[in-house]
Amino acid sequence: WYQCIDKAIPWSDGRLVRLEIAIDITESRELEELKDQMLSAVSHEMRTPMTAILGFTEFMLEEEGSAEERRGYLEAMHREGQRLNRLIDNFLRLGRLKSQRESLHRERLHPQELLAPLAKKYAQASPRHPLRLEIAEGTGPFWGEAEDLALVIDNLLANALQYSPEGGEIVLGAKSRGDEVLLWVKDPGIGIEAGELERIFVPFFRVDNSDQRRTSGVGLGLPLAREIVSRHQGRIWAESAPASGSTFYVALPGAAGTSVAPAPESPSR
Ligand code: ADP
Repeated sequence: WYQCIDKAIPWSDGRLVRLEIAIDITESRELEELKDQMLSAVSHEMRTPMTAILGFTEFMLEEEGSAEERRGYLEAMHREGQRLNRLIDNFLRLGRLKSQRESLHRERLHPQELLAPLAKKYAQASPRHPLRLEIAEGTGPFWGEAEDLALVIDNLLANALQYSPEGGEIVLGAKSRGDEVLLWVKDPGIGIEAGELERIFVPFFRVDNSDQRRTSGVGLGLPLAREIVSRHQGRIWAESAPASGSTFYVALPGAAGTSVAPAPESPSR
């Protein structure tokens, strides 16, 4: 896409010189399109949790159901509220990352401080999925922006729950590997075909199968995760097979032997 600017400029001898400038605006045009797509997908998707929350509040206001059922309604409302929150966070964060060159403010993070609050949040919100936090002994710190990395793991955990049967154990793990720290989320869910393992990181891509059509989603969580991890000079990928569960890995530069974070450079796989 080009934007043309056509100008008449008075020259020193009194003549008018016509100047035509063509500016390549492909990038900003694509960005605008991505933003429009994001806005319509997100606003459509916001209706699902909102409808669920309103429905459950109505049940509760009418004082229907046993104490156990009411507890179930509250859990569901909490889950839907979190889903709404994540959707808005993903949307705002991806929009900002795509449109601005923000600088990265990394600090030395210990796996425990990043992962334990998330494990706690999910244990409370989804008691029907046991979650095991598995940090290998001697796992070192890594360089990262805590808020952004929390959003990455949050999205991976939400997917692990969404695409796994109730009762299936989710593992949130960390270990050092060479000069990297590896974080992972492992689920016993529906799994992903080999041919889709890269495409799931493309905005708005959702695997098309019957399990999938029953679940809601937009296809922004994994593209955002990849964008964030790439900014960290890290890598994110999935290993999976249909019906055998999935493991999502995030590799980040370790901070054990270094006093400064590696300089930002070319992104990941
Ligand atoms: P969303 O979950 O909102 O659709 P994501 O970007 O988080 O968006 O995921 C993209 C797609 O990748 C999902 O729609 C789903 O098809 C697939 N996917 C992601 N995580 C898993 C998982 N743990 N198990 C199976 N499929 C997954």
